[in-house]
Amino acid sequence: MKKTHRIDTIPPYLFAQIDKKKAEAQAKGIDIINLGIGDPDTPTPDFVIEAMAKAIRDPRTHDYPPYEGIPEFRKAVAEWYQDRFNVSLDPQSEVLSLIGSKEGIAHAFLTFLDPGDIAILPDPGYPAYKVNTLIAGGVPYVVPVNEENNYEIDFDKIDPAILPKANVLFINYPGNPTGAVASDEFFERTIHFGKKHNILICMDNAYSEVYFDGKPPRSILEFKGAKDIAIEFHTLSKTFNMTGWRLGMAVGNAEAIQALGKIKTNMDSGVFKAIQWAGVEAFKHYKPFIAAQNDLYQVRRDILMKGLREQGWTTPNPKATFYVWAKVPKGYASEQFTMDMLDRAGILVVPGNGYGQYGEGYFRMSITTPNHRLEEAVKRLKEHNIRFDV
Ligand SMILES: *Cc1c(COP(=O)(O)O)cnc(C)c1O
Repeated sequence: MKKTHRIDTIPPYLFAQIDKKKAEAQAKGIDIINLGIGDPDTPTPDFVIEAMAKAIRDPRTHDYPPYEGIPEFRKAVAEWYQDRFNVSLDPQSEVLSLIGSKEGIAHAFLTFLDPGDIAILPDPGYPAYKVNTLIAGGVPYVVPVNEENNYEIDFDKIDPAILPKANVLFINYPGNPTGAVASDEFFERTIHFGKKHNILICMDNAYSEVYFDGKPPRSILEFKGAKDIAIEFHTLSKTFNMTGWRLGMAVGNAEAIQALGKIKTNMDSGVFKAIQWAGVEAFKHYKPFIAAQNDLYQVRRDILMKGLREQGWTTPNPKATFYVWAKVPKGYASEQFTMDMLDRAGILVVPGNGYGQYGEGYFRMSITTPNHRLEEAVKRLKEHNIRFDV
């Protein structure tokens, strides 16, 4: 069988390897605390389920949906952006439904990169950016983001020689895996950079609603001139515990949204209408639901962070996302430490290098697991004397 070169460029999906390691440990009878994949463990709220149940019984939801999304969903998205970010969007030309945001992100590279074109990507970063750059025949140019630069891309460090070939810049705040929140000045610098070099800014805002200490993260579209050069990817997955439902949206610059829509019309046939109706209902309840959900995550974050501090870690509290990004103890490589955590303590975490070369030396923990399991994880760290400052 002949397969494409494209296939050879794709590394195995990070979580596929982790699932394998998890299965091996489970087969040995180890009770594993899964702090690996970031997938909300609490259910989709009832108001969403009820809306879906009602919609699915209506035969008008059973045929092909409009590829760009039903008008009611796009309107609900525009209204939510107005209410949440004070950003006005035209539902017709500036909002596109997605089969989850990963779908839209993948298709963005096919839309905006010709073979050989460069995508500027954060490292560490969400693995789909790099892989889909490669699938599109593009060339990833990774920029390190770290504690020293507040996990913000330093545009002065980008080699000017690559700029004429660069067509897309991806940013992700609040960030997976780092939990970083960008400053207002960073968004302003990013827009300036994009405009100056004619590079489309793709902002992945999957975690805008998972935040702590009452400070809501921002949309890039809140900043002046953003709509000239930026689109934003969003999803109901993390916000409403709907990862399995597959519903997201791309919003922003109309020309870019239309172009992405054109690729999509030829690749998929849109989102099941009943799911979009469930999405319409979800946005109506976002305020109280998100407040309660974030209270729950904040308790969990505090349990884990207190435990880590007692074990010598000095990692600051994440301000957003359900991730904790921490350094591995001295003398360890990321993967080695991950294996050690699993073998010694039965705790599954993700090695930082899975998010790029600059993630080496770190590991990621997800708090999408109940309080008592996080308490048990902390207990095991103590029992097995797993410390940062050994
Ligand atoms: C989870 C995640 C997504 C994708 O979510 P979907 O379920 O496809 O909407 C996109 N970006 C980041 C950074 C994520 O963590």
